[in-house]
Amino acid sequence: MTVFRIGIIGLGKITEDQHLPVIARNSAFELVAVSSQRGITVDGVPTFRAPADMYQAMPDLDAVAVCTPPQVRHVFAREALAAGKHVLLEKPPAATISELDDLAAFAAEQGRVLFTTWHSQYNAAVAHARDLLARQTVRRMAITWKEDVRRWHPGQKWIWSAGGFGVFDPGINALSIVTEIMPAPVFVRKAALTYPENCDAPIAASLEFATSGSFDSLTAEFDWRQTGPQTWDIAIETGEGTELRLSNGGAKLEVNGVLDVERPPHEYEDIYIRFAGLLRDNRSLVDDAPLRLVADSFLIGRRLTTEPFYD
Ligand code: NAP
Repeated sequence: MTVFRIGIIGLGKITEDQHLPVIARNSAFELVAVSSQRGITVDGVPTFRAPADMYQAMPDLDAVAVCTPPQVRHVFAREALAAGKHVLLEKPPAATISELDDLAAFAAEQGRVLFTTWHSQYNAAVAHARDLLARQTVRRMAITWKEDVRRWHPGQKWIWSAGGFGVFDPGINALSIVTEIMPAPVFVRKAALTYPENCDAPIAASLEFATSGSFDSLTAEFDWRQTGPQTWDIAIETGEGTELRLSNGGAKLEVNGVLDVERPPHEYEDIYIRFAGLLRDNRSLVDDAPLRLVADSFLIGRRLTTEPFYD
């Protein structure tokens, strides 16, 4: 079996929590180097302060995972593609749609694989919800994605600056489930984005969606001010009389009040299994649908202001 030599750019929380342990357990990959602007080290592999140094020192590197904040993802991804590397993009895959379009076109030109990862889609419950909804009509959908930003994003300044997505950083995970499971595309009809007066990214968002068929109500509530129990739920009612509740960020599915699927998270394991398959087939997988819904929310969203936020 081919073993792909991979490097990681950005040694922050998600790299430590997921990419490093998951790559270590996947025999299709060998971590051979990391690039960290702060010079963070990983046992057994060299650290480079800049990706360019990594590419020069390790010419047989096959691929990189870009795990930085979104504002700088395009620059790192383009540089990697130009160096002839395949690229896995953490979510969100870029700060803007036009950046992602540019990366997709450049990857094709370079004959390299570009992979946009949407980790919440890699849940058995999400796949089953998609299959159940495939031949139904969705009348109601209520997304409730409410968490405590101080618990999940302590000290992350980038998330509050322009292009950091704010509450859409977790909210885009819900949207990535929606674009995966809805039997017909949804689009944003109305949005209200609430900004702390000292931040350039929203702390809360209320969205209303529409779809081409008839429906009653399709909404999303994102809020980063929820302490105590955290909520990552999507409730759906279909015209055919089915009630679905996806909870725990897509890990659990109840159908008509009865537990249908509940599996411990295996998201990043499945992401790297998919990446290995794409690399073997030399095929890109670029999905911009969740990013488009976020971009549209910013395009048509009303701006509301709330009290300042301090970490
Ligand atoms: P983080 O802890 O802040 O780490 C990001 C890392 O990127 C930094 O530690 C830094 O590492 C590197 N970096 C390079 N250029 C940077 C710049 N200009 N500003 C700040 N950091 C820079 O963030 P994270 O939570 O790992 O999130 C990274 C991405 O993964 C985000 O897009 C996020 O949405 C996604 N994600 C996060 C989670 C999660 O649970 N945290 C889950 C899924 C997806 P070096 O100093 O080593 O270069």
